[in-house]
Amino acid sequence: ESFLNMPLHTTLCWTMIVTGAFTLFGLSKYVTAPYGRHSKAGWGILLDPKLSWFLMESPNLVMILFFYLKNYGMSGQLPPATNCILLVFYGGHYINRSLIFPMRIRNGKKMPITVMLAAAFYCSWNGYIQSKTLLELEQYGDEVLSSTRFILGSVVFISGFAINYHSDEVLRNLRKPGETGYKIPYGGAFKYVSCGNFFGEIVEWIGFAIASGSLSGAAFAFYTFANTAPRGASHHAWYLEKFKGEYEDLGRSAVIPFIW
Ligand code: NDP
Repeated sequence: ESFLNMPLHTTLCWTMIVTGAFTLFGLSKYVTAPYGRHSKAGWGILLDPKLSWFLMESPNLVMILFFYLKNYGMSGQLPPATNCILLVFYGGHYINRSLIFPMRIRNGKKMPITVMLAAAFYCSWNGYIQSKTLLELEQYGDEVLSSTRFILGSVVFISGFAINYHSDEVLRNLRKPGETGYKIPYGGAFKYVSCGNFFGEIVEWIGFAIASGSLSGAAFAFYTFANTAPRGASHHAWYLEKFKGEYEDLGRSAVIPFIW
């Protein structure tokens, strides 16, 4: 048990929700995470972006491996089918984010070490609670597979993943080899929002939270929103300023179509 008289796992989930509330407030009002186009001096030495993305996102994969080995050892056994599907959603996203996405970054800006360390800390924490839920605490029965909640959540997750993946690709293809500047992205979710990648990411983890029906999933969805929505709002303001005179005519929202 932890200091709040709750199991440690529950405390870690609730702490993520409370931290998310502070993050949402802080990133909306006071700071914009200083990487990419908002990069600035004073946040520590600058690291290669490909290496940074690998280092900060891969703790999620390490945690999956750790909890698998802890609970299943070298048996080769698998958790129940519903757990496996949720692990494929979560693990698949992070195989993309820690391995494929970094390899494909084109002339990305260098990343301050403090941003990398903060993200690595978050991913270790989140990796711990998601992997512990799916590989230790929950044994979903097979009836969950055909439940409305699981099917709806899965459809929402897959839609979010498709939007996020497609948007990452649109952004990547804006730069020809050697180019480092910024252009206006078009197509897919960019028809409605300035940051289709963040919109897709938010949809993904809301779907995952619905499908898993877990407190850890809800904490992850809320933290993702808290982290990416204000960044999307900063990007939106930046696009309006950078492409003054043409960007406002596109009528886009920042991150959530028609809402924010
Ligand atoms: P950005 O949109 O800031 O940048 C993504 C990449 O595309 C960078 O390489 C960037 O280059 C390039 N890029 C972006 N806009 C343009 C443009 N207009 N013209 C040319 N190139 C552009 O996203 P992040 O780096 O913040 O995030 C990357 C991914 O990680 C996203 O899919 C996001 O959803 C996910 N993420 C998830 C979080 C979570 O809490 N779950 C938190 C943060 C990110 P440059 O580096 O030069 O700006």
